[in-house]
Amino acid sequence: MRTPGCHVSSEDSQSAPPFIKNKSEQRLHYRLMHRVYKILRDDEWQVRYCRMNGNVALCAKLGLDSDGYVGTVDDERQIIYVDFREDVLSTVVHECLHIIIGDRYDASKKAYKAEEAEVQRLEKMMMQYMSRTQATRLHYLISDRLAPRKREQ
Ligand SMILES: [Zn+2]
Repeated sequence: MRTPGCHVSSEDSQSAPPFIKNKSEQRLHYRLMHRVYKILRDDEWQVRYCRMNGNVALCAKLGLDSDGYVGTVDDERQIIYVDFREDVLSTVVHECLHIIIGDRYDASKKAYKAEEAEVQRLEKMMMQYMSRTQATRLHYLISDRLAPRKREQ
């Protein structure tokens, strides 16, 4: 689940120290990008745009604890829900990170908090390291996953 603008606040952009690249983070970013591509290339996953933030009925239907979210994953139906009014790339990266690292955590609430903190940290890191080429590729893959599937009708 992703809340609006959860990785960048307006204060961050004013006072954050300059971004310094780090080799091991760069390698981690590269590996994670390939995992994200793989999820989006996999025919089992769909991306669905929706108006999620503030939509009480939809958020309840998706099993969210409030209506203040802009992205979530339906593991059973393998759908990544994204509020298209927000930062779509960051949200897709965030939700894919949940899919990638989710297995490492238990389903208990405490473990979920740990997972959420880790996902937010990795999302921020990946958005900093993402190249124009990677962002373009990601957009293409997302577009392909947005195509309506017959089985959903
Ligand atoms: Zn999350």
